[in-house]
Amino acid sequence: MEKRMAAATASASASYRLLNQKKHTSKRFLDHRRLVTNFGELHRSSSSSRGFMHHCGTAPLQSFLSRFLWALQKSSLNHIQNLPGIQHRTFGSATSTIIQRNPLFSTINHDDIIYFENKLGLKNVIQDEEELQTANTDWMHKYKGSSKLMLLPENTDQLSQILKYCNSRCLAVVPQGGNTGLVGGSVPVFDEVIINTRRMNNIISFDEVSGVLVCEAGCILENLISFLDKQGFIMPLDLGAKGSCQIGGNVSTNAGGLRLIRYGSLHGTVLGSEGSLGIITKVSILTPPKLSSVNIAFLACQDYISCQKLVFQAKRKLGEILSAFEFLDAQAMNLVLDHLDSVRNPLPSSIYNFYVLIETTGSNECNDKEKVEGFLVDAMESGLVSDGAIAQDLNQASSFWQIREGIPEALQKAGAVYKYDLSIPVEKMYDLVEEMRIRLGGKANVVGYGHLGDGNLHLNVSAPQYDDAILAEIEPFVYEWTSKQHGSISAEHGLGLMKAEKIYYSKSTATVELMASMKKMLDPNGILNPYKVIPQSLLLS
Ligand code: FAD
Repeated sequence: MEKRMAAATASASASYRLLNQKKHTSKRFLDHRRLVTNFGELHRSSSSSRGFMHHCGTAPLQSFLSRFLWALQKSSLNHIQNLPGIQHRTFGSATSTIIQRNPLFSTINHDDIIYFENKLGLKNVIQDEEELQTANTDWMHKYKGSSKLMLLPENTDQLSQILKYCNSRCLAVVPQGGNTGLVGGSVPVFDEVIINTRRMNNIISFDEVSGVLVCEAGCILENLISFLDKQGFIMPLDLGAKGSCQIGGNVSTNAGGLRLIRYGSLHGTVLGSEGSLGIITKVSILTPPKLSSVNIAFLACQDYISCQKLVFQAKRKLGEILSAFEFLDAQAMNLVLDHLDSVRNPLPSSIYNFYVLIETTGSNECNDKEKVEGFLVDAMESGLVSDGAIAQDLNQASSFWQIREGIPEALQKAGAVYKYDLSIPVEKMYDLVEEMRIRLGGKANVVGYGHLGDGNLHLNVSAPQYDDAILAEIEPFVYEWTSKQHGSISAEHGLGLMKAEKIYYSKSTATVELMASMKKMLDPNGILNPYKVIPQSLLLS
């Protein structure tokens, strides 16, 4: 992400502006047709992939399980249940997570350290406090564990051996990739051993005929993107954390990202379990060829209904070339402009309530241009779009994307943030943001943005610091509201620690019990990422 941001130049003023004055819309737009530039560098796509997992316990039921977990993340089932009893708060988080260390877990002793050092080598058994502090703390600085040990295996064999050892000693572990997760899944809750896959970062093979990439779990997403770019292919996935997140973490969280509208969910063919069923060591992904024609437009809309109609039109008129449809509200835009120095507003002449970023990727430049222009002209003439700009080159494209991708970083800089990642029917999505604003009054800044084309809202409440009174206004209201709309409380980030106890808002008791029984079968001692994904009460019984 940082690299991309650094690369982006904020020369948005030079981008091709759409029309400010509606009555001249089509003429002016058509007059400038020749200025619409295509640039063939930015695009991702996919069709199938497969993961390899390493379990500490029993039979390989991954495929069966992945279906449950996939259903959990992307479905819209809802059954509200009473949550299990809570014991005591164990660490300061603003997420009302209150849990107790499983007394069955051992604590690390000298012999353990000797074992790990023999297996991995001294420098890959991390006990250094500073390094551990980083690994114990999540990206948002909201969750903090107290692990005294991080292990850095280099290959599947080493990982398998240390996992087996941890299981025999009943040492709890937390798998960790790039530690960019947003639900507290990637950091220990107590003293779990951190197993970070960053040394497992080799690309094993790439078949340019089939497009199949086989790589180790610790490969950083952006490195895979660059590798494939040189081969004339693209990754099926793109997200703001690409500079740090690892493919193993992406697969295990079933990351959605910016191009899901075009290429679908990784979970169609990839296993995933947020590290609670096994550790992914290798991933095989079918990658599509890179296409030569890309267009990116940054548009302004006056109201949410226009954004909604626009996505409806885009799906029909841009069809197979539509590769991203993202939206942000004025509050999100202001945050980015206030907190990220390198971001510029491509549409500075007025203040708008909503902004939309549309990307198309295709193989026929003339046809694509014609489609995009026709779509934009109609959108302007019908009043759905009030203003807009089309990127003229790669730098401008990056600067448009930087606005959208910079929102999480801007929120982090603004202070404390309560993050909710929800699947909600598109027509209802923004009602929640507005209701939340009314609920919170002036106590916090409520921001809405997300993957509009996929019905994925990122509702964020930004406040100067974490405050239990604000949290009490937000939860359980946000989960109840989503559940009533038959939405999902976890669209793409996973459940992690944050939502393990909230799972019943999206899943029936029977489903959760089945998930728990599968987890028990694969991980009988419960050492893999404990306290995450499934309510503890079910796993201890
Ligand atoms: P981590 O954060 O290290 O781990 C995440 C979870 O996966 C944990 O439960 C961990 O135990 C488990 N895990 C990690 N590696 C393995 C492994 N090898 N085997 C088994 N389990 C493992 N997410 C989206 O879906 N879409 C977005 O658009 C998006 N945008 C983001 C933008 C920003 C700026 C940031 C900070 C985050 C964003 N995220 C997004 C969230 C996050 O980047 C994704 O969840 C990502 O897939 C996590 O990858 P990671 O390598 O950082 O995993």
